[in-house]
Amino acid sequence: MDLIVQKFGGTSLSDDQSRRHVLRHIIRELEAGNQLVVVVSAMGRSGDPYATDSLLDLIRGRGDALPPRERDLLLSCGELISAAVLCNLLQAEGFPSVVLTGGQAGIRTDDHYGSARILEINGERIRKHLSAREVVIVTGFQGMTRDGEVTTLGRGGSDTSATALGVALKANIVDIYTDVDGILTADPRWVSDARPLTAVSYEEICNMAQNGAKVIHPRAVEIAMKAGVPVRVRSTFSDSEGTLVTNAQALRSQGIWYDRTVTGLAHVKNVTQLSVVNHDGPADLQLRVFRAMASHGISVDFINVMPTGVHYTVSDSDAPLAVRLLAELGFEPQVRRGCAKVSVIGGGMNGEPGVMAVIVEALTAAGIPILQSADSNTTIWVLISETDLAEALQALHSAFGLHLTPNRRNIEEEVGL
Ligand code: ADP
Ligand code: ASP
Ligand code: MG
Repeated sequence: MDLIVQKFGGTSLSDDQSRRHVLRHIIRELEAGNQLVVVVSAMGRSGDPYATDSLLDLIRGRGDALPPRERDLLLSCGELISAAVLCNLLQAEGFPSVVLTGGQAGIRTDDHYGSARILEINGERIRKHLSAREVVIVTGFQGMTRDGEVTTLGRGGSDTSATALGVALKANIVDIYTDVDGILTADPRWVSDARPLTAVSYEEICNMAQNGAKVIHPRAVEIAMKAGVPVRVRSTFSDSEGTLVTNAQALRSQGIWYDRTVTGLAHVKNVTQLSVVNHDGPADLQLRVFRAMASHGISVDFINVMPTGVHYTVSDSDAPLAVRLLAELGFEPQVRRGCAKVSVIGGGMNGEPGVMAVIVEALTAAGIPILQSADSNTTIWVLISETDLAEALQALHSAFGLHLTPNRRNIEEEVGL
């Protein structure tokens, strides 16, 4: 008998028809004799009645008037509604089940309302219900402080609840069910021929998620990676096996690792590029600029420091404040709003010549100017105009042949999952 954590995202729970698919996956595992902890998100997406964004809409414009503690109480309601509705469906089908809030499930967090960190999980109560052969439905995205206050874990945090519970309960696998067929080579909303990957390492998907691939929260991957708990990202609406996320070393040692250079693409929109040029400016221009950004909590990226000045990016929402701070320092920055950061990600990129050449060639052929670039041993980033984003993603996807199915062995079969 396996212990499986299943997590269902908002679109998987949005209407009765979707919830029937959810039920199917739960019942399949129960009939296979497995124990189940089911983590749920709030129902639907923005505009749907009980989605997290819809709860936020209730206080939009007056949000600052609601203290963070009360804001988290409001946000925690979405997951609770989902959990109770799912429990109702399961009970109606004759499957004993129980709903636990994050706090009741033993998830202790710090008191950073809106972005709380999990400190520990006491799985005793969940285990008791599992021993009583109940399906345990846990509200994702939330926990409780030691003082009994409800906290939320940050947007997309139900993934984190799921892997943290998987680790605490020593689950055999954490299945993240969503509205796509696994982790794809790029966001399918932007690249029509993006292809599901059979398996990826924790590092690869962590990198993709940190660079904007919303399919799983990076924190969730970090938690699973630390404990070595396997994760599978798969579709609620099909029976495909999805993408296995596990340890690269383990796969390699069994001789079943892809020798791919590029795994996939990720992107972030709504970026502003700021350039401050040092004609006759102060010698400590760079220091002044970054101190001003840091002291106002503005996160900077794509940093290029040169003797002639600095180029860097901030989010579009931070741009007005950043520009004002630069003006107060006496600088006249060049401001380019509406940029996008595209990341080309691959565990096998290190030491592989020619990757940048492929990127430049593909973007040049498409007539897309590269505004800035940077690289690490697993990623190359390019900054482009957001108006070029769709074309750039498609061009890079084709240039690296990411749409082609690799002629490889079936990793999941060989890992035995
Ligand atoms: P859920 O509600 O299930 O948590 P999310 O909207 O948070 O779903 O995440 C799933 C979405 O992530 C997909 O619909 C897809 O558009 C997006 N996505 C972005 N990058 C990728 C990728 N590389 N692979 C798969 N999906 C991706
Ligand atoms: N419902 C929360 C959100 O929309 C958490 C989640 O979906 O993971 O951010
Ligand atoms: Mg999500």
